[in-house]
Amino acid sequence: MDKFRKQIVDSLYGIKKEVIPVQLVSIAKELGYTVYRFRSNFEALDISGIVNYDEKKILLNELDFNMRQRFTLAHEIGHIVLKHLENGEIVDYRENLLNPDDEKEHDANRFAVELLMPQKQFKEKFEEIKNENNFNSDDYKVITVSRLASYFITPYYATEVRVKEFRLLDYMRK
Ligand SMILES: [Zn+2]
Repeated sequence: MDKFRKQIVDSLYGIKKEVIPVQLVSIAKELGYTVYRFRSNFEALDISGIVNYDEKKILLNELDFNMRQRFTLAHEIGHIVLKHLENGEIVDYRENLLNPDDEKEHDANRFAVELLMPQKQFKEKFEEIKNENNFNSDDYKVITVSRLASYFITPYYATEVRVKEFRLLDYMRK
């Protein structure tokens, strides 16, 4: 099992009986956190998410696309499970999430990928899509990643990371 994912499965009963898309709000709730959305004003425009350890709140930018909000939420759950702080808050700017420049941000992203796309279900869904598709299509890669992304409700680039990691499309190389 994925390294970070193991930590959350060990710490939460709810995730063992898993449904896809992964029920992030319930997971946050099991950790004692409530999820809210904020309407960003000009200053907050670049903020995707905040985790407040004192008030046990996770805040998401409601202007972000749903799949982006889900990635942010999974990332914030990562900060909580990995105990990146004991109190205070972590503010995640969109840029942090896309190009993390410190180890904690990188780990929270990695955690999000593992949480949102469980290895077993991801590979199973890939096989299902593979069996349904026409392999001669030039768009095959984009179609496959997009279908996985809509099933797991994940951003395209994060889904692509998972596909590459499991080398699922390697057989297509000439
Ligand atoms: Zn972060």
